[in-house]
Amino acid sequence: MYKAKESGRNQIHFYHNSMQRDADQRLQIESGLRMALNNDDFQLNYQPQVNATGKVIGAEALIRWTHPELGAISPDKFIPVAEECGLIVPIGDWVLSTGLKQLKEWKQQGYTGHMAINISPRQFFHADFTQNVLMHINKHGIKPEWVMLEITEGLVLDNVDKAIEIMNTLKSHGFKFSIDDFGTGYSSLSYLKRLPIDELKIDKSFVEDITTDPDDAIIVATIIAMAVNLGLSVIAEGVEQESELNFLKEKGCHNYQGYYFSKPVPAENFPLN
Ligand code: C2E
Ligand code: CA
Ligand code: CA
Repeated sequence: MYKAKESGRNQIHFYHNSMQRDADQRLQIESGLRMALNNDDFQLNYQPQVNATGKVIGAEALIRWTHPELGAISPDKFIPVAEECGLIVPIGDWVLSTGLKQLKEWKQQGYTGHMAINISPRQFFHADFTQNVLMHINKHGIKPEWVMLEITEGLVLDNVDKAIEIMNTLKSHGFKFSIDDFGTGYSSLSYLKRLPIDELKIDKSFVEDITTDPDDAIIVATIIAMAVNLGLSVIAEGVEQESELNFLKEKGCHNYQGYYFSKPVPAENFPLN
């Protein structure tokens, strides 16, 4: 009995300690993010998107950050913190500004593709979002048709009517929309039909198992068929193996992104054509 009590206490103790550590790290990340914004300490890398012939048709901008003490931190870790404390709004603004400035330079060098930018929920639903996006494209001399805004199903489901309203406004200017991480959310067909979208992006968690897991193979084939039937473009992310690429090609997937082609790279290393 004493042992059980003891181990119970220890577990609770452990739980408290690890919660405290998490909270400390969140605070450390949050204050680090504030400093990084002030000091212009973020970078963008760009990952090529290619079509079935291997031609580069797009670039996805992906943020990178090296914390002064914690070292390089994955955006999977710091973007949720930024989203929670609201810093995603100025950070997202920095991404738009930096990415579109880069796109303009590339266009002047003959780049024919688009730039895909990740937009998080708090940024998207912010009252100034549409105005901000328009301000950035005007400032950098960008055509809206060159910009693919990546949003998730989860974002849309937060407020379907409001999301459609914002999307319609941006669509009317010519911006394109992609549903990121497709397949991981609810994938409700009823709202999918109502959304003014151009592209479905199949999440890499399905792609990585298509050659080993028959269920994932069926899911991916179904998403591709559905996109084609809805008149949408479809891109697979996380393509690492030739066997995955062959499967996707055979099922009629239009575009591809992943380490098989290239990791995300700094702007100067991006293959413009
Ligand atoms: P995501 O939008 O789903 O981006 C795809 C992630 O998969 C990226 O991770 C990319 O580097 C990685 N990836 C690409 N190809 C492969 C592959 O072949 N294999 C594997 N295993 N991974 C691959 P990253 O750059 O670490 O970004 C993680 C997430 O952070 C992104 O997921 C996105 O949700 C978020 N994120 C990144 N940059 C931004 C940003 O500027 N704004 C916002 N709001 N979110 C961002
Ligand atoms: Ca994305
Ligand atoms: Ca994903």
